[in-house]
Amino acid sequence: TTAWWREADRKHHLSPFTDYKQLKESEAGARIVTRAEGVWLTDSEGVRILDGMAGLWCVNVGYGRKELAEAAYKQMLELPYYNTFFKTATPPPVELAEKLAEITPAGLDMVFYGSSGSESNDTVARLARFYWKLKGKPEKAHFISRTYAYHGSTMAAASLGGMTPMQEGYGLPLPGFHHVDPPYWFDFGGELDREEFGRQAAKQVEDKILEIGPDKVAAFIGEPIQGAGGVIIPPDSYWPEIQRICRQYDVLLVADEVICGFGRTGYMFASEHFGIEPDMMTMAKGITSGYIPLSGVMVSGEIGRTLVEAGGEFFHGYTYSGHPTACAVALANIDIIEREELVRKVREETGPHLAKRLAELAEHPIVGEVRSLGLIGALEIVQKKRPRTRFPGNGKAGTICRDHCFAHNVVLRAVRDGMVMAPPLTISTEEIDELVSRLRTCLDLTAKDLGA
Ligand code: PLP
Repeated sequence: TTAWWREADRKHHLSPFTDYKQLKESEAGARIVTRAEGVWLTDSEGVRILDGMAGLWCVNVGYGRKELAEAAYKQMLELPYYNTFFKTATPPPVELAEKLAEITPAGLDMVFYGSSGSESNDTVARLARFYWKLKGKPEKAHFISRTYAYHGSTMAAASLGGMTPMQEGYGLPLPGFHHVDPPYWFDFGGELDREEFGRQAAKQVEDKILEIGPDKVAAFIGEPIQGAGGVIIPPDSYWPEIQRICRQYDVLLVADEVICGFGRTGYMFASEHFGIEPDMMTMAKGITSGYIPLSGVMVSGEIGRTLVEAGGEFFHGYTYSGHPTACAVALANIDIIEREELVRKVREETGPHLAKRLAELAEHPIVGEVRSLGLIGALEIVQKKRPRTRFPGNGKAGTICRDHCFAHNVVLRAVRDGMVMAPPLTISTEEIDELVSRLRTCLDLTAKDLGA
């Protein structure tokens, strides 16, 4: 029963990113989700909830896909697991590697597997250093990333990330991890024109490289669109400048496509939209639409050749690197994305529809900006539009709005005073209308609560 699950959850389950005291004292306890179909979750009380977040930005092909369950079942009967260590391979990771080389941006052609986005970014932290060691430049060992970035929870990934609550008091960031400001025009742009702001944000990376010393910097890593940081969509001027700077100083450019990959933005990978040609690219989430854990780091031909030609063992890997069942599910998932033309639909149909409906919300008295690309979007809650003023309370307005959304059975996330969304790529235009309509109601309620 719901009551039993809630009690056991409180007593025995330590959930991620949770205030345990608050949960223990809350009357309601956790909401227990028991089923899902398409974009709709059902909780243990039979209530249907519109999932505007695709789980955690991952259920790209939507819920209830029998094909994915069947792919796992078939593979589990044949060979549920075998490792890929020590010159062994199994067919699914090899077939998937070939497929990934085909669908990822030009130049990326080898993959190293893990099970989570965190693991893939941790792999980058070691692999980039291994590469530079092989190139005879072991002193190239520093990393640059951005504040508000989220690259995972493990210690190196959290060091690459720019979320201070994950770092302060935990000895993070580890030595050698440096941060610059994100290209977040709405909060940091001031009076600057967006494109000029984008160039200045990129310039911070150049300044940081020069401060550390170009011969010491291994890589710059960034999400094409910072997701958990608040769906920060950079100005068009930003990524070309970042790429130019990385090339100029011989710094590897790493794109974290854990959220953006597999169709989210209306491109198979957001790097294509922004014109990024990464030396390494990390991916997870949408690779299996969250049906089973899997992640990977794609590397360029140049890095691959160096690894192959230089020799020397790469002392790194996970028991589940190249897990055959996970890879079989990924292949079936990519097949669905391609067969149903989900990427084109997001780019030409549902993405533009979401943008249009969000643009209507921009007129709302407490909305300061809306932005989206494909099916990832955000709106900023403000007290006053001009001059732009936030509500007091540092994130309180966002939390209030999020809680109203949850009570109105639509899952959206609040990041500070921004509301972010990333529904399954299979969402229909009618379901987008429903999502936006519920969000509007919740913005009205938030405004009322805040006396606006
Ligand atoms: N990178 C990005 C951009 C993410 O959004 C996330 C998770 O939200 C991660 C990495 C970490 O992935 P995981 O939670 O699978 O470790």
